[in-house]
Amino acid sequence: MHTNQEPAKILIVDDEKVNIDILVGLLKPNYRIVAAKDGEQALKRLEKSPLPDLILLDVMMPGMDGYTLCKKIKANSETSEIPIIFITGRTDEQDEAKGFAAGAVDYIAKPFSPLIALARVKTHIELKRRGDILERIATSDGLTGIANRRRFDSFLSHEWERSVRYCNSISLIMIDIDFFKLYNDHYGHAEGDSCLTSVAQTISMAMPRSVDLAARYGGEEFGCILPETDKEGALRVGERILIAVRALDIPHATSNVGDHVTISMGIATIKPTPKQVSLQLVEMADSALYHAKRSGRNQKIHCDDRPDMLL
Ligand code: GH3
Ligand code: MG
Ligand code: MG
Repeated sequence: MHTNQEPAKILIVDDEKVNIDILVGLLKPNYRIVAAKDGEQALKRLEKSPLPDLILLDVMMPGMDGYTLCKKIKANSETSEIPIIFITGRTDEQDEAKGFAAGAVDYIAKPFSPLIALARVKTHIELKRRGDILERIATSDGLTGIANRRRFDSFLSHEWERSVRYCNSISLIMIDIDFFKLYNDHYGHAEGDSCLTSVAQTISMAMPRSVDLAARYGGEEFGCILPETDKEGALRVGERILIAVRALDIPHATSNVGDHVTISMGIATIKPTPKQVSLQLVEMADSALYHAKRSGRNQKIHCDDRPDMLL
């Protein structure tokens, strides 16, 4: 995803080096450029992050042609949002229509005017940047800055499907701040907000694996999704989060479990079958959280350790 701090990244795919050189010469002053000489190499480049903000694609290439490559990129949810512009000598109406049907956003005919090509690239990079900003706003929580409930739901459903397909375990940690109502009552809502933000950021930083997601589930509750993670792994992450939040040392004068802000967590792990639904994982973690609260708070409980809770 494109951020304001660094120049946008453009992937150029063309089998002729001279074409790549012309585009590199044109775009290099303003953009970060990567090149690929065929479809296979382009797909390899797209496995690495950061992904490009724009792809300039030649139509006629040996092996995989531009249309096929374009369709592949659009079919993959990781890369489908990257705008693709065809740069090609094939300019009859049918060819152009075929490019748009494959998912391209624009078409630049060779030989092209450098000024026009630059202007088009600039427009599409700007549109992509705006799309990224909207995406970030739509998926992050306004107060704490971590993922929001919408993102939690879509991430869980996506990872659940993947776990079913590959027969992997998936774990979920539900976290709730202890006696947070009393915290608000004592310190005021503004302090409450700042406490929530610190706890959210701490949870997120205690989960450095890029495939994991920490989200604000609602109110003072957080949900951490750990794909490809078994019970032991989830317990380890849970312990790390508990310790990190304790180490924040936020005073909580009216808590009934200590002098500082603490959390309780419920953990669940499933290796899902096609018959199960992701809501079961949420319910199991929720029910483990309920037991953690009832057993004194400031602790974690895995649902496997409470046989009465298994669904
Ligand atoms: P427990 O230990 O059982 O979880 O008790 P609790 O007081 O934390 O739980 P309860 O559900 O009774 O209260 C949750 C509180 O969280 C009440 C609500 O005012 C507060 N809260 C929820 N969202 C926000 C928020 O965005 N900002 C602030 N400051 N407080 C919030
Ligand atoms: Mg609470
Ligand atoms: Mg709560």
